[in-house]
Amino acid sequence: MCIHVFDRSRPVLYVTRPDGDWCALCGDDHLNDAGSYRVVGIGHLITYDPAVVEVLDLAPNQEAERAAVGEPWTRSEF
Ligand SMILES: [Zn+2]
Repeated sequence: MCIHVFDRSRPVLYVTRPDGDWCALCGDDHLNDAGSYRVVGIGHLITYDPAVVEVLDLAPNQEAERAAVGEPWTRSEF
């Protein structure tokens, strides 16, 4: 997850599984360095935002995004 989600300053608006690893981001731009991201387990991610459960059937190389908390997820392949 990105540092914004990790420190709860922004909600999860984008979930993806590049190479099968869960990645939850706030949807904003990030510096491409390790300081912008934190690795946590999926259980922690669900604790941060229970709505993530709705996209746990996401396949590798799919992504889901939403406009805001409470909005439906939109899925796509990438
Ligand atoms: Zn972020």
